Amino acid sequence: MGVSPFEEALAAVLRPLEFAARDEFAHLDRVQGLPQGVADAAERGLGLAIPRDAREALAETARLFSEPLEGASLESAIERARARLAPFAAQGWCEAALARSPSALPGVGPKRAEALARRGLASVLDLLFHLPVRWDDRRSLARVEELEVGRRASFVARVLGCDFVATRGRIRGRGGRSFEAIVSDETGTVTLKWFRGGESIAKLVHKNDLLLVAGDVKRYRFSKQLLHPEIEVLAPAASEEAEPDETDRAELRSITPDYATPEGVHPRALRRVVQHAVESYADLLAAHLPAPLVRELALPEPAQALRELHLPPLDSDLAALRAGASPAHSRLILEELYLLELGLALRREGRARDSAIAIAGTGRRASAAAASLPFQLTRAQQRVLGELRADLARPHPMQRLLEGDVGSGKTVIALLAAVAVAEAGCQTALMAPTELLAEQHERTLRRLAEASAGGTPLRIALLTASVPRAEAEAIRAQLEAGEVDLVVGTHALIQQGVAFRRLALVVIDEQHRFGVRQRAALARKAAGELTPHTLVMTATPIPRTLALTLYGDLDLSILDELPPGRRPARTLLFREGQGARVTELVRETIARGEQVYVVYPLVEESEKSDLRAASESAEKLARAFPQARIDLVHGRLDAAARAAAMARFETGRTQVLVSTTVIEVGVDVAGATLMVVEHAERFGLAQLHQLRGRVGRGERPGTCALVSRGGGESSEARLAALLETHDGFAIAEADLKLRGPGEFLGTRQHGVLPDLRVADLARDVKRVAQAREAALATVRRDPGLRRAQGLLRAVQARWGDRLALAGVG
Ligand code: ADP
Ligand code: MG
Repeated sequence: MGVSPFEEALAAVLRPLEFAARDEFAHLDRVQGLPQGVADAAERGLGLAIPRDAREALAETARLFSEPLEGASLESAIERARARLAPFAAQGWCEAALARSPSALPGVGPKRAEALARRGLASVLDLLFHLPVRWDDRRSLARVEELEVGRRASFVARVLGCDFVATRGRIRGRGGRSFEAIVSDETGTVTLKWFRGGESIAKLVHKNDLLLVAGDVKRYRFSKQLLHPEIEVLAPAASEEAEPDETDRAELRSITPDYATPEGVHPRALRRVVQHAVESYADLLAAHLPAPLVRELALPEPAQALRELHLPPLDSDLAALRAGASPAHSRLILEELYLLELGLALRREGRARDSAIAIAGTGRRASAAAASLPFQLTRAQQRVLGELRADLARPHPMQRLLEGDVGSGKTVIALLAAVAVAEAGCQTALMAPTELLAEQHERTLRRLAEASAGGTPLRIALLTASVPRAEAEAIRAQLEAGEVDLVVGTHALIQQGVAFRRLALVVIDEQHRFGVRQRAALARKAAGELTPHTLVMTATPIPRTLALTLYGDLDLSILDELPPGRRPARTLLFREGQGARVTELVRETIARGEQVYVVYPLVEESEKSDLRAASESAEKLARAFPQARIDLVHGRLDAAARAAAMARFETGRTQVLVSTTVIEVGVDVAGATLMVVEHAERFGLAQLHQLRGRVGRGERPGTCALVSRGGGESSEARLAALLETHDGFAIAEADLKLRGPGEFLGTRQHGVLPDLRVADLARDVKRVAQAREAALATVRRDPGLRRAQGLLRAVQARWGDRLALAGVG
């Protein structure tokens, strides 16, 4: 385990050589039959898929020992072979070779290498793991007379004639010219046609050439034709080759992999390049999966798996290949996920060994605070609070993820935890993804803290980039002096210059915007050798696969109960042109004395047009409802202006808040009962679910009006799913399936997702669980992977940086 077939083969060659050379060849006479043994071992190595330099070194070794040798000539052969093989046995040689540019492969010049690199195929390794997206069934070669309209087929035929043909407006009214070739075999004749790229085909195809053709057969008037088929010239016209006989035909049959092809690289050329990569590098790949799992699932070795995908044998299970369900897929995907899950397990294990401040105390102050809240904690809240308190009381850092739908009461939990921490004389830092949210959090926490003071009030401060410099300086000084119990902020909190006196708890809200590395940066803010307890809170229910890969190093608490009296918002879907009905909803809501959010897609610095849309909407509403007060909030307003606007809305002084999605999460205004989401098609389902969770939080029911402005049928089907369910987890799963993990997590999260080569978090749900189970078992058996240094190195190389694993293991 942990070594590649090549390393194994090389070791088999080197072992007897090293033994013989020990103590200045003192034992030479004891290694009988050494030349033969070494030559055989080298020959076995030559059977592997390895690059030319490695192959030559083995071949030379085999030659050196091909004759019986003894005495001085044997010694000299041993020395030469050891010197020749030494570079290949150096640690990391395989990895370095796999990192070579594709130009190391035959048929790849600088230009092609560049085209490949632009598409992210910058190394041989990249090529090996550039898996086919489709497999074309060319196992049976048809006769031309057997071609069936509407089916894909491959066949061999000779070119009777070919030329450019004028197409008089046949394709969408445009005139132009197509390149056509009439081809035939002994059974019939069919036309091949190219509307695009005719020039390059014309250079390739000539009269009398023998072609292998593959494509979809279409009907054209009374005959059949293939549009843009894939072709291969089997024998050019000049050659005297005869029609293929049955054995030739058999050789042409294949299951042909089809790749996502970079611009400027022909599909067939890419196929060749990948095949070369497999044939001369596959056996440099190390296998890491534990043997029992490999046996249980009957998985092929990695090199074999690559062959089965890139060069599928004729008896492959095509359906399994196409579904990504083949054992070959499983092998490669599990190898990848296993390393990732090992990284997470190591991280978790490392953190669990770290020391943290144990927050024991009486908990009297936290209990008093809970008792004086204006409401009773839900059972779920009490349970989660218990989990937190137990974690905090241990001298090792808590690592916990708290998931709960919008409005399930996460903030209160954070507050009560902070009170317990303060009672022990320690500090808490709460980090939010945006300034607006940090500001809102600070106001909410202050209000709750005041409502629940029950003794010493919690000393709360806000620290964001917009806090005036002098004030920020003062807050930093107070943090360092221990005069602030709870500081709320954004990324500014993890910047240098912020020091705490006794930071014991870090709360990260809306975690999906922070990566493991950012969490690690914040954790380093703790005093001395101590690691702070970490609580990560998210309102996006994260599907299990994602949770296990993004937060596999965390324990999970779930708030699965909303405070009493909450009713899910009624959700309505409107299309372009139904603006009048939306306006009517706004009118009714305002008339009842309730408040309205109008949300537009996020305004980034660059997206002026969205901001314009939001301001125009604000103006239009102002004209339609002259008696109502309307505010516009967006990320480009300065902090004071935003805070003032939010305060006006919270206190009911404004009736309508037009906003960009910076209010997406976290905002909490009891009087708001209508949420209008403009351009709903541009939001993710999970995001929309969160938005609608923002209304109807008081006694009065909420309504969410989704206004879809284009995006087509699929987008409407997507939105319709929201009308049917209010189960956040089901919505998240659907969203993940529809949009993939990157989109699901949103654009701000680049850097959060592990960059997986072959695994697909939306598809590989079961494999993630399998990999995780295997990884946990491995680390349980061998903490820190101390007995598996090769495996540890592989994890470090692949994920060390990403998971901030430095020093782990
Ligand atoms: P989340 O952060 O999970 O979206 P919050 O903590 O902001 O939820 O709570 C949402 C609202 O519900 C707040 O106004 C909060 O004061 C209130 N709330 C929290 N817990 C309860 C409870 N147990 N009973 C009634 N209201 C609650
Ligand atoms: Mg919240």
